[in-house]
Amino acid sequence: MFSVKKMAAALSGLLLGCSASAAKLAIVIDDFGYRPQQENQVLQMPNAISVAVLPTAPHAREMATKAHQRGHEVLIHLPMAPLSKQPLERDTLQPEMSSEEIARIIHNAVSNVPYAVGMNNHMGSKMTSSLPGMQKVMQVLDHYNFYFLDSMTIGNSQATRAAAGTSVKVIKRRVFLDDNQNEAEIRKQFTRAVHLAQRNGSAIAIGHPHPSTVRVLQQMLPNLPADVTLVRPSQLLNEPQIIRPTLPPPPSKAAPKPRNPFHGVAVCPLPQPVAPVPATQALTVIKESIEQSTLVKKIGSLF
Ligand SMILES: [Zn+2]
Repeated sequence: MFSVKKMAAALSGLLLGCSASAAKLAIVIDDFGYRPQQENQVLQMPNAISVAVLPTAPHAREMATKAHQRGHEVLIHLPMAPLSKQPLERDTLQPEMSSEEIARIIHNAVSNVPYAVGMNNHMGSKMTSSLPGMQKVMQVLDHYNFYFLDSMTIGNSQATRAAAGTSVKVIKRRVFLDDNQNEAEIRKQFTRAVHLAQRNGSAIAIGHPHPSTVRVLQQMLPNLPADVTLVRPSQLLNEPQIIRPTLPPPPSKAAPKPRNPFHGVAVCPLPQPVAPVPATQALTVIKESIEQSTLVKKIGSLF
């Protein structure tokens, strides 16, 4: 017979055991290939920090190779069409492009960014919200065995739907670290990413090689809470993708600052507000994620 005391001890043991390795945080630094000086500072950081390289950037091959040699995971940061009018990288994917054209662009990107194992979108609010457009992308990625990290530059991204029927795994960015390049704001976003990882089990944050982002990461990475582990995005491919309703940010009178001051590099647009999930649907998602959690299964098996 299981005494109440023993059962309580078993449960607290389970809780402790889970919290010891509960939170996984992946950090990806985008827009690599234009600023080797700052990018080299990123490559000095723990090699669980991953980098996403713009395939037509002048230092794409060099930085991808260096990142790989230092043990960092490499992604292709593929330019995709935004809804807003702004300067575009060469070979930016458009929804109306043919499958052949998209295959050619991705093929070139793969040869310019050696060692890549995944892809994420640079900008892309127009392209990623197009189901037919993203289906063409996923068909090509299927051949390369790549995962797709959805940068979530728009709430109604179709990347996950478009990957249905292919072997491409889709994971999603939760936090942008440096929409605002003020160091205090970046610290706040970093802390938000840590809390999301602790609450949900995992989180993916995306930043850029800005001097202020580099400084904040240098300060904060050595002081991560003990229950948070830095991981590569490829280590999160089998994590449950928890969807929670996200409230749109409060309206701001000030025009958003460009996220990327690099000369000649188009910036990622600010993410569009995510459409709120109806309360009933949100409850179902939360209930499902609770039911699927290992802890609940373990507790269930005790009774
Ligand atoms: Zn970008």
